[in-house]
Amino acid sequence: MKKSEEEVLSWLGEKRCRAVVEHLQRRQFTAVYCATRQEAVDYVLEQTREAVSVGFGGSYTIAGLGVEQKLAEQGKRILNHGHPDLTPEEKLRVRNAELTCDLFLASSNAVTMDGILVNIDGVGNRCAAMTCGPKKVVLVIGRNKIVDGTIQDAIDRVKNIASPPNAMRLDKKTPCAETGRCMDCQSPDRICCVTTILERKPRTSDFHVVMLNDDIGF
Ligand code: SF4
Repeated sequence: MKKSEEEVLSWLGEKRCRAVVEHLQRRQFTAVYCATRQEAVDYVLEQTREAVSVGFGGSYTIAGLGVEQKLAEQGKRILNHGHPDLTPEEKLRVRNAELTCDLFLASSNAVTMDGILVNIDGVGNRCAAMTCGPKKVVLVIGRNKIVDGTIQDAIDRVKNIASPPNAMRLDKKTPCAETGRCMDCQSPDRICCVTTILERKPRTSDFHVVMLNDDIGF
């Protein structure tokens, strides 16, 4: 029987996500495949069971899963520097607290087919918290962030696919927020200042990566 477009995309997404999971496991990450957003939410909530404080890396993917509200209702201490009512001083305090939280939740900007994670930050707090500090790190990565190619291809994806919409939503005064393309700007608002490339699980981290067979985040 002829398959629908959605079924074909889901089939392809599963193949690609599972291939990335295998490579991530070879790189010592705890990596799992989730077929649906609900499965990803369940996995995240299971991982947060022991955590008292949960830090958020400002991820559109994590926001899209709607876990913050659930965790707040469970009485977790929520550390999210992205809340709009915070003063700059409070934002800084929360960012610093995120670096030593029990569990840090974020996404990655890109993952290569062979399991290398590439992230680019303006401030660098998300990149830092991913590599050292929190007791546990959980990343949820949508299939749309898988890159066929090299680390440079992954960096190009971040600069041209992830950063422009992120700059736009954060109301940054950068050329990409106008044109939708990276112009390698000199803007004070530049959101591409710190690049991290995770080739292996950071040695002391309990690091989980969820590969989600869905298009989510930028
Ligand atoms: S224009 Fe600037 S902020 Fe935008 S993607 Fe390029 S370097 Fe990053």
